[in-house]
Amino acid sequence: MALSGFASCKGVVWVNTHLIKPLVGESYPVVDYGRGIYLFGKDGKKYIDGSSGAVTANIGHGVKEIYEAMCRQAEKVSFVYRSHFTSEPAEELAEKLAQSAPGDLNAVFFVNSGSEATETALKVAIQYFQEQGQPEKIQILSRRTSYHGITLGSLSMSGHPLRRQRFEPLLEDFPAVAPPYCYQCPFKLSYPSCKMKCADDLEEAILSIGSENIAAFIAEPVIGASGGAITPPDEYYPRVKAICEKYNILFIADEVMTGMGRTGKMFAMDHWDVVPDIIATGKGMSAGYTPMAAAIVSDRIMKVIENGTKVIMSGHTFSANPFSAAVCLAVMDYMDKNNVVQNAQKQGIYLIEKLKKLQEEFEVIGDVRGKGLLCGIELVRDRTAREPFSLNEKITETFISICFENGLIVYPAVAGVTGFSGDAVIIAPPLTITSEEIDELAGILSSSLKQLTGKLE
Ligand code: PLP
Repeated sequence: MALSGFASCKGVVWVNTHLIKPLVGESYPVVDYGRGIYLFGKDGKKYIDGSSGAVTANIGHGVKEIYEAMCRQAEKVSFVYRSHFTSEPAEELAEKLAQSAPGDLNAVFFVNSGSEATETALKVAIQYFQEQGQPEKIQILSRRTSYHGITLGSLSMSGHPLRRQRFEPLLEDFPAVAPPYCYQCPFKLSYPSCKMKCADDLEEAILSIGSENIAAFIAEPVIGASGGAITPPDEYYPRVKAICEKYNILFIADEVMTGMGRTGKMFAMDHWDVVPDIIATGKGMSAGYTPMAAAIVSDRIMKVIENGTKVIMSGHTFSANPFSAAVCLAVMDYMDKNNVVQNAQKQGIYLIEKLKKLQEEFEVIGDVRGKGLLCGIELVRDRTAREPFSLNEKITETFISICFENGLIVYPAVAGVTGFSGDAVIIAPPLTITSEEIDELAGILSSSLKQLTGKLE
C-alpha cells in the first residue's frame, strides 16, 4: 500500500518519524481539500480539524489570500540562497517578527522546522558563552515532561521517553527538572501551599550541576505534545526567569506550539510579561502553508557575537527562502486583518467552558486545562484518586480513533513511562473558529466520550 510521506522505498512511502503506523486506524485516509476548520477526505468524509493538524493550521485551511500571495511570490522568485541574496519578504518578515516579539528580541534566524528552531537556540546559547571565554557552559537544562523536536540536538533537550528511547545512546545526557504539572504534581504537593517547589527544583539542579556548566534552560510555556496543554500557575515563569538571571543562564522559550497567537497572545510568554533570551517559533508561523520556523534572539546575545567571531555556524539551504517568507507574511497579515489573536483568546474561554461541562458529565475526564485555543483534557481511570490508566491500555489511542471515526481530529499527548504518566488529548482548533463551530466540535467530543465510557464499562 502506498502512503503519502517523505521517502519512498520500493513503492512504499514511509511517514511519521516517531510512529510506526497511522495515528488513527489501520491506514491513512486520503485528503482531498480543506476549508476553514474542516478537512474533506477523497471519500467525501468531513472532519473538524480540532487540533489544527499538529497545532499548526492556525488560520484554517484553504485561505484564498494565502494562495494568492503564493502565486504572486512564485511569479517573482521562489528561492535564492541566503549567502547570495536577501529578499524583501524575508527582511519584512524578520522585521514583523521582531516587532511582535517582546523586549529586545530582534534578530531572526529562519529555519524550516520547530526542531531546527530549538536546535539553533541551543547552538546560539552555547556560542554566546564561548564568545565570552566560558566554553564549559554547554549543558542545556530542560524539564522531564517536554518536547523540543526530533533532531538529535533538540531530542537531547526533550523529556519525551517514547520519542527518545531508540536513540538514547546518541543523545546528550542533558539534565532535566520537574515540570510545573499541578494535576499530577511530581512532589505530591498542591498549589499554592507547594510554594512552587517545581521552580525551586530548577534552582536546586543549577546548584548541584554548577551554573558554570549550564548555558540555558529551555521550556515550552504551555507543555504540548508530551503533556496535553499543561499550564503552570502564573507565578512560575517570572520565578524561573529570575532564577536564570541570578545564575547567568539563558532562558529559551520554546514557542513552536504556543507562539503566533495560539494562546490568545502573540507569544505565550506575554501572558506573564516574561522576556526570554531566545524564542523558538514555528508551526503557526506559516499556519502550515509552507515549512517555516525561526529562532528569535535578543540584542544582548547578538552584541556579544557581533563583537566576537561574528559568525553563527547554523543555517540550512532553504533558510529564509522568499517564497516561504512571503507566505508567512501573508499569514501574519491575515491574522492582523481578521483579529485572529483576539479571537483565539475569546473562543479559548468558550472552549474551556464547554470542556468543563463535559468534565461534569464524564468521570473519565480528570483535568481540563490550557490557554487560549491550546486546550487539553486528561483522561483518568479514577477521578477522585487522580489515578491514570496504564500506558498499555492505550486509552488516548482508542479515544482519538473514536473521535476520528466520528469526524473530529484531536492530538495525542502521551510521553511514556518515565515522563508524563497520564493520557491526554490536545484540542486546538484553528484560531479562526466560531462559537457555533465550537458547539459542533464539543458535540462530537461528547458522543466520542460516551463511546469511550461504554468501552471502559
Ligand atoms: N517544540 C515544540 C514545543 C513542539 O511542539 C514541536 C513539535 O510538535 C517541536 C518543537 C518540533 O517542531 P517540528 O515538528 O516542526 O520539528
